[in-house]
Amino acid sequence: MEKIEILEGRQRQVFEKQEGQGALDIACETTSLSGSVSQRACVFCGSRVVLYPVADALHIVHGPIGCAAYTWDIRGAVSSGPELHRMSFSTDLKEMDVIYGGEKKLYKSLIELIDQYQPKAAFIYSTCIIGLIGDDIDAVCKKVAQEKGIPVLPVHSEGFKGTKKDGYKAACDALMKVVGTGSTEGIGKYSINILGEFNLAGEAWIIKRYYEEMGIEVVATMTGDGRVDDIRRSHGASLNIVQCSGSMVKLAKEMESKYGIPYLRVSYFGIEDMSKALYDVAKHFSDRPEIMDAAKALVKREVSSLYPELQKFRKELEGKKAAIYVGGAFKAFSLIKALGSVGMSVVLAGSQTGNKDDYEGLREMCDEGTVIVDDSNPVELSKFVLEKEADLLIGGVKERPIAYKLGIGFCDHNHERKIPLAGFEGMYNFIKEVYNSVMSPVWQFAPRKGGLS
Ligand code: SF4
Repeated sequence: MEKIEILEGRQRQVFEKQEGQGALDIACETTSLSGSVSQRACVFCGSRVVLYPVADALHIVHGPIGCAAYTWDIRGAVSSGPELHRMSFSTDLKEMDVIYGGEKKLYKSLIELIDQYQPKAAFIYSTCIIGLIGDDIDAVCKKVAQEKGIPVLPVHSEGFKGTKKDGYKAACDALMKVVGTGSTEGIGKYSINILGEFNLAGEAWIIKRYYEEMGIEVVATMTGDGRVDDIRRSHGASLNIVQCSGSMVKLAKEMESKYGIPYLRVSYFGIEDMSKALYDVAKHFSDRPEIMDAAKALVKREVSSLYPELQKFRKELEGKKAAIYVGGAFKAFSLIKALGSVGMSVVLAGSQTGNKDDYEGLREMCDEGTVIVDDSNPVELSKFVLEKEADLLIGGVKERPIAYKLGIGFCDHNHERKIPLAGFEGMYNFIKEVYNSVMSPVWQFAPRKGGLS
């Protein structure tokens, strides 16, 4: 097989764990190398994925129709009530708007849509072209907010102005303008907000159910199954629990500095991390020991029914190799542990938005020979999958074709997934998904393995 080289200029974003290697001097949190065809989404997409699940808000993409189409119904985030978030409204800017400006069109669209749908708030996303023509979306939002009496929030997410992570920051800035605008009356001491949980396939409901079973009040989920009125009063909670910390830790830090609410970083994937997420919250409320008792009982019940099931999968999966390429590196930690629990090893661990600490953490966790990569591209991912002989690729919609073309199993662990993978029941679903894909007989027919051509 011809050796695939790493692109010049990317060498400091790709490492292989070796014996006696010191801390990684990885180049990350930087813009993508031109021409590398990064798997990473733009700033606008970063904002859109974070705010998308706020179900009773209007979301208008101010820009050409392509930006809206690209992110239309982008998450499998479900709602227990309104579904306004699933509409992909766009100002559909054309050449004449680019020449004369799109502010009037945005104003007219907002008025029309607010009158028709009566949303609780509106998020207006700036796209690349708005950054170029300089529409004053702040002024339009302010005018409409005054006229209609709802928060109309500009999201400064011009696609080209940074990385996907800058989009997360823009989304947090918009949310922060809503936090603190509602009454906190009736919120108890043992209360939390769930941050960075997007209710993909109902995952937020699973997590919320666990916390409520422990006697904890959940004030707001940001943003899965999100409601504007809950976000308004979220500053009344005693603690913020942050999953997907890349996207929401900024909001948690700002709420800590403005309202004095501490935060904890957690993950809900895999037995170990899910249990820890419950125990950590129980420890925070240590003045009420019943909360810890309930957490222990819950974990015991769930693990004792899940463990025997996992052992059945382990028989077949033991020794198989996985490649992981996900949005946030924090998720990769949980996936490595979860795969380890059925005897699988990880030969590639990469992310779109990890920082130096994340990659150092991955280096410590991974076995020798594991490739650690930041902001990768399809050619590199194919190279690593082939060279390391992975049996499975875990990623999102953009990684799926890579796995299938190379004739290996794939597990979608990104926005689009339609089955819940969080919590204890999610762990069962995850391993079952891995098993079904890795063990599928179809791979024997892959041309690369000498099958049909
Ligand atoms: S904001 Fe820019 S980079 Fe993002 S989808 Fe629109 S045109 Fe593409």
